[in-house]
Amino acid sequence: MSGHRDEHLELCAGYALGSLGDEDRRILERHLAEGCPECEAALADFSSSVVALASSAPLAEPSPALRARVLDAVAGEAQGGALAERAGADRGRVIRMEPPRSSWTSWAWAAAAAALAIVSFLQWNIAERLRADLESKSKQLAETSQRLAEEQRWAAVLGAPDARVAELQITPAGIKALRARAVYDPKTRSAVLVFENFSAPAGKDYELWAMVPDGVASLGLIKADADGHATLRLENAGAPDALAGFAVSLEPEGGSPNPRAPTGPVVMVGKIGG
Ligand SMILES: [Zn+2]
Repeated sequence: MSGHRDEHLELCAGYALGSLGDEDRRILERHLAEGCPECEAALADFSSSVVALASSAPLAEPSPALRARVLDAVAGEAQGGALAERAGADRGRVIRMEPPRSSWTSWAWAAAAAALAIVSFLQWNIAERLRADLESKSKQLAETSQRLAEEQRWAAVLGAPDARVAELQITPAGIKALRARAVYDPKTRSAVLVFENFSAPAGKDYELWAMVPDGVASLGLIKADADGHATLRLENAGAPDALAGFAVSLEPEGGSPNPRAPTGPVVMVGKIGG
């Protein structure tokens, strides 16, 4: 017979927590020595609870008392001998869970791990933002490079050594303000045309024509901006032996329905110079 009583369970709890006084501990140990399945089971239970408590403790804020004790311990460790004295004084007013250092240590590790996790997350966040930034900058750069290459290609037309120019003249049907100039590179067959004061009257469009041996061929509409300015870039204005010059007609909105014949008056015309 073990002589088990309910009070023994309370002693088991204290034992697991390491908070029993010497006398209580002796009572319980004597009882356990006689063999008590109930107390043994309770002790196993309490011990695993204490372990669980210790490992869950990191998630909670340390209490002011724990913080004070930790700071004391750190200060004491720094001062060597002072630790024992101070710890002795503390023992009088603070109920210590044994082993106190291990719960502090696990708390510190968990805090460090949490801090590391936060830092890692922030770093990941920053890296992610930088990556997205870099991606958009690379895209912008690629677009800018492409535009630059495009501009250089058209600038090359204007600066080509054997480029030919056509100054377009106003016909009696054209208004006096019209200005137009064409630069044609026979080598690439590209042409750049610049138009000024080309705001078309309401319901009308200016249309550009290539003068070819058998008549004219439409090169498209001249769409001016609000200031009446327009620039046309033609990839292929025609073969050097076929293209004699350029003409502009004033057409109903949308241009002539026939790409080989203007319907409206021809307002400008210009032959390509040598
Ligand atoms: Zn018992």
